[in-house]
Amino acid sequence: MKVVLIGVGQAGGKIAQALAEFDYDRGFEAVQGAFAVNTARADLQNIDIDTMLIGQDRVKGHGVGGDNELGAEIMQAEATEVMDELDGRVTSQADAVFVVAGLGGGTGSGGAPMLARELKRVYTMPIYGLAVLPGRDEGAIYQANAGRSLKTFTREADSVLVIDNDAWKTSDESIEEGFSAINDRIAERVGLLLAAGEIVEGVGESVVDSSEIINTLKNGGIASLGYASALADEDAGENINAITSTARKALLTGTSLPQAVEADKALLVIAGHPDRIARKGVERARKWLEEETGSLEVRGGDFPLSSDRIAALVLLGGVERSQRVQEFMDRAREASQQQEESTESARDAFQNDELDDLM
Ligand code: GDP
Repeated sequence: MKVVLIGVGQAGGKIAQALAEFDYDRGFEAVQGAFAVNTARADLQNIDIDTMLIGQDRVKGHGVGGDNELGAEIMQAEATEVMDELDGRVTSQADAVFVVAGLGGGTGSGGAPMLARELKRVYTMPIYGLAVLPGRDEGAIYQANAGRSLKTFTREADSVLVIDNDAWKTSDESIEEGFSAINDRIAERVGLLLAAGEIVEGVGESVVDSSEIINTLKNGGIASLGYASALADEDAGENINAITSTARKALLTGTSLPQAVEADKALLVIAGHPDRIARKGVERARKWLEEETGSLEVRGGDFPLSSDRIAALVLLGGVERSQRVQEFMDRAREASQQQEESTESARDAFQNDELDDLM
């Protein structure tokens, strides 16, 4: 699937860049262009893709802090300039545009949904979100921001592929190392999905194409991506179990949104050397996926690659009713209420002080 990536905010820019680099290094040519928009000049200086600084009159290149309302206002106020910059970058060859952002902060959290809305007004191809949710250890303001943003983003974009920052990290990494390692994993896994719908060499009827990704995301809402891989035997017949167990792992332990299993639609991609892919394994894995997700629309396809491993990618569309998403929204709502209460009590304290002073 040919895509244009637009990163908004710090995480958005870094992830867009990581995806573009992965695609370039592997020679997939699924990423047609990558661009980063931010209100913070310093964050853009660390980025190697084309960039645009917005909100200079309001925040003078210093960013919006965690203020996602300000992030949204700035994107809205400068929508024309941003769309002008994107004109020519979003080419008619692109099958879709991905607006990429971390939802816990300010610029991406507020700006990404606004940008998705603008893009949808102008372009006819699907406009998707690629959104990172803050990990459990991040503070209440991040959770509250992400909760509000996720709602708006899901409404404005054609579908939002969500990655929980706790899902693809390993426990022995510091936060900073963690982000860069998570970004690499996002780049590899999302990058493979995009490339899967792109590669045409070794065409067979079982090879996945971009319309299958688009159809899986068609009903909108929240999407997730699962990934797992294993060494494969040279003899396809020996790989039936490897394929079924890799597909199970992708959904149950390798997913970007843990415990989100129920879905409207699903797509199972088995990547590997065509000689090593066992049809029986693929069929079994697909049947298992139907039962597990409760979906009546499970697609499947191969992604021919020269590798001694087999990988499974599971894209789920319409997971918003899952337990994990509901739990996150509850956590965000609670954080939002706490935030309001603490602003109220700060306001009360301030008013009391004033009264004391007057007396
Ligand atoms: P913004 O620049 O105001 O949009 O905010 P940031 O992008 O800096 O941060 C928003 C959220 O994204 C944070 O709450 C983190 O959860 C997450 N985040 C920040 N940087 C990274 C990164 O490099 N990778 C990942 N995966 N998440 C990040």
